[in-house]
Amino acid sequence: MRRRWLFADQLGPHFLDSPGQPVLLVESKAVFRRRRFHRQKAHLILSALRHRAQQPNVRLVQAETYAEAVTEPLSVCHPTSRAARGLVRRLPDVEMLPPRGFVTAPQDFVAWAHGRDHLRLEDFYRHARQHHDVLMDGGEPAGGRWNLDTDNREAPPRGAATLGVPPPPPITEDEIDEQVRADLDQWEREGIAFVGNDGPRIFPATRAEALARLRHFVEHRLPAFGPHEDAMLAGDPLMAHSMLSAALNLGLLDPLEVIERVEQAYRDGSVPLASAEGFIRQILGWRDFVWHLYWYFEPDYRAANEMRAHRQLPKWFAELNADAVQARCLSDVLAGVRDRGWVHHIPRLMVLGNYAMQRGWRPGAVADWFHRCFVDGYEWVMTANVIGMSQFADGGRMSTKPYAAGGAYINRMSDYCGGCRYDPKVRIGEDACPYSAGYWNYLAHHEAALAGNHRMRQPLQGLHRLSDLDAVVEQEKARGSRAP
Ligand code: SF4
Repeated sequence: MRRRWLFADQLGPHFLDSPGQPVLLVESKAVFRRRRFHRQKAHLILSALRHRAQQPNVRLVQAETYAEAVTEPLSVCHPTSRAARGLVRRLPDVEMLPPRGFVTAPQDFVAWAHGRDHLRLEDFYRHARQHHDVLMDGGEPAGGRWNLDTDNREAPPRGAATLGVPPPPPITEDEIDEQVRADLDQWEREGIAFVGNDGPRIFPATRAEALARLRHFVEHRLPAFGPHEDAMLAGDPLMAHSMLSAALNLGLLDPLEVIERVEQAYRDGSVPLASAEGFIRQILGWRDFVWHLYWYFEPDYRAANEMRAHRQLPKWFAELNADAVQARCLSDVLAGVRDRGWVHHIPRLMVLGNYAMQRGWRPGAVADWFHRCFVDGYEWVMTANVIGMSQFADGGRMSTKPYAAGGAYINRMSDYCGGCRYDPKVRIGEDACPYSAGYWNYLAHHEAALAGNHRMRQPLQGLHRLSDLDAVVEQEKARGSRAP
């Protein structure tokens, strides 16, 4: 049996053909020289690799490049980036197997996508539910509905500082983490730059840690996940989210085992359908969908820029300088990225992505920022998520409308605005909320491009009713790239 080369995001048992198969792991410092990653992300990846290397039959090679480390016939599961796939193809005597770590097979996705004008999550998700027989009662969706989103868009509980669910069990760092921290300190002294704060490791680096988190989530947090999955509380950044994305994307968990565990909890009656469905949609639906789109769309999709957004990321944002920001929502979310390398999907989309889109920052740079600064960020994750969904830079190939919103949305879905120096209802002057003013400014600039989109008809009608639109546009022009 050939030795299996595992990339650092293929660490779980489902990437092997048998438990005893010999393994090659490669740790390359050059990766961290090329990109300025979050310090905690670098720590997590190195810790996961080195913990995996403790298992029997594993050879860990520390090398400047991957090619240097590959000195024998190997097999490898299809890697998760085009660059890595190109490398594997160039190396002699490395056999590339189909991808693992996702639910729907590539040929099934292509068969589903072929001939469709628009690729929509909802259609793919229903197809995947049927194809893999997940949350199905015979030919019908469990509970009679495919989508319980309408039950899952609740604002945070009024007056509550937290959702009150038990936090995920803490991770206990060990001597491997200690060595990783010492090595990263040394690399920094040698000139390798990171972004974000170091801190105790809070994401699983081993399969045992990931399984413990999965068990705890399904038992204690998942029941509350659904209704509040889109809500934000300043005092509860984790809400009832699983925080399993990093473990899934390191390959420590198989998405199918996660889905089966969640469905079982629903069938046992310990988790309501709205929570089980909402969570399974994220994994079987969204995670697989963006993975397949990464390969299905042409390579230059990453450079798509239909809305012609060309501004550079300002330094305060690139450097995660939350203290420079007065807008309470943005400051808090940016601090979350700085301190944890993770915030949940709504702050990503509606606070960070929304702000970037309103300000016309270059989508490719925004996608790169998310890739580097988030513990679960990879090129395949962030391409469709950021270019397509968050920044609408593909002009609507995978989303029906831009996720642009003003302060009213953030006010409804969070407790941020009450303690903010800005007012979400104000769009002009000292107290003008940068999201509200930014929203109208965005619509004013892109009116022509969005005019044919029926989902934007109402907002564009609203735009024409604004008597102070010219003043809003002037004000936002003057704001430029200053931190709000
Ligand atoms: Fe954010 Fe505007 Fe609300 Fe302040 S008022 S927290 S800037 S949405």
